[in-house]
Amino acid sequence: MAIATINPATGKTLATFPALTTEEIELKLALADTTYGKYRQTSFAQRSQWLNNAAAILERDTDKFARIMTLEMGKPLKSAIAEVKKCALVCRFYAEKAPEFLANKEITTEATSSYVAYHPLGIVLAVMPWNFPFWQVFRFAAPALMAGNVGLLKHASNVPQSALAIADIIHEAGFPEGAFQTLLIGAGQVGAIMKDDRVKAATLTGSEPAGASLAAIAGSQIKKTVLELGGSDPFIVLESADIDRAVATGVQARMLNNGQSCIAAKRFIVAESISDRFTEKLIAKFKELRVGDPMEPDTDIGPLATAQILSELSDQVENAVRQGAQLLIGGQPDSARPGNYYLPTILTDIDLTATTSKEEFFGPVALLFTVKDLDEAIALANDIPFGLGASAWTNNPDEQQRLIDEIEAGAVFINSLVKSDPRLPFGGIKRSGYGRELGVEGIREFVNQKTVWVN
Ligand code: NAP
Repeated sequence: MAIATINPATGKTLATFPALTTEEIELKLALADTTYGKYRQTSFAQRSQWLNNAAAILERDTDKFARIMTLEMGKPLKSAIAEVKKCALVCRFYAEKAPEFLANKEITTEATSSYVAYHPLGIVLAVMPWNFPFWQVFRFAAPALMAGNVGLLKHASNVPQSALAIADIIHEAGFPEGAFQTLLIGAGQVGAIMKDDRVKAATLTGSEPAGASLAAIAGSQIKKTVLELGGSDPFIVLESADIDRAVATGVQARMLNNGQSCIAAKRFIVAESISDRFTEKLIAKFKELRVGDPMEPDTDIGPLATAQILSELSDQVENAVRQGAQLLIGGQPDSARPGNYYLPTILTDIDLTATTSKEEFFGPVALLFTVKDLDEAIALANDIPFGLGASAWTNNPDEQQRLIDEIEAGAVFINSLVKSDPRLPFGGIKRSGYGRELGVEGIREFVNQKTVWVN
């Protein structure tokens, strides 16, 4: 894939960037390596100051950064603005909390003193997706930099201007140039970097094939990885739920980021007794969504990020219909517009043996299932290769507890939208990946948890 900004709302190529050569990559690796030797000696206070500066830059130029994201991948401008603010939040969070999260942990033994110390690992490679071009990077960079690591970013090929802007923010904030560098490279250039001895670990957010490929190389080199991959999260609504709140949140959860979020509610699993009411309200809310230019402040749904994603999503929906699913609304690209628009869509009567019932739909497409009771809801929710974040709606405490205990996912949110929060760990199980970002768990992924015994 060419490294280029192609406006998804128009299909026009606005800028292209040559991929770095092997020699240029070597210069950046060497700079990262020499920087690490000095950077790891800096104090928490110094790193906190730089990270707070980065937060201030994000807050100062929010609109500018938001427009770069919207231009490159089509998310509505209001979502992009919220994303930039959330990046500032994660910077301030780790600037404040890292010293506490990484303080020596005393453990009483017969030694004079014994404890766990948290030391940096060195160069960490971050392979990132385009769907949250700033947030995905900052939620890696803030804890990694606070821990004393240095970062190399290989961003998705369709968001090069976002990638460059992020590196600029981090340098303007005061971090040494080699502490965080953007590598404009294609996916095929990642393997060689992963094999380089100077690179100690990697984190990848993206698709299963990309995660499996990077983790296989890392495994061959005995290097740590964190993988945040796809999902097809359930949104379960049971009889005692507040249906209006569930519908409103469900639409938001499905449509966030034009439907291209890993933790979007993708499978609506609704109790038979309320299914007709829920469906009617869901269709009505889908119809209210304003599809249009993502730069307009009141747009709810913009274009999909690339022409390829549009074509894959169209094929998936057609395939689902061929396999027996019924279309309640939508079901095709928006032919009235240029660019990569797809109409908000609801599919129901999905054959559970059909391959499409277990796939991730990365766009504004909801799959709607009806179940007779809680047992069936849990079984269906778990009958999927993924396990990222489940949202479940019920006011019955026993049902809530069973859902918390039995849903196979990295997170369960009761009567709430699944969302990431700097204070809480975030990640998946099964084919959604492993490891955690955010919270104390996130900052401890890329550190040497060193056992110390002193007599
Ligand atoms: P993708 O194709 O896997 O791309 C993600 C990143 O991986 C890009 O930087 C891409 O580079 C790179 N890449 C692709 N193939 C690679 C390979 N073989 N080796 C090394 N790097 C490789 O994913 P996507 O389709 O853009 O993103 C959507 C997926 O990400 C969805 O499944 C979504 O659920 C998942 N996601 C997960 C989370 C989470 O936190 N769990 C968050 C967001 C998204 P190029 O652009 O150059 O190909």
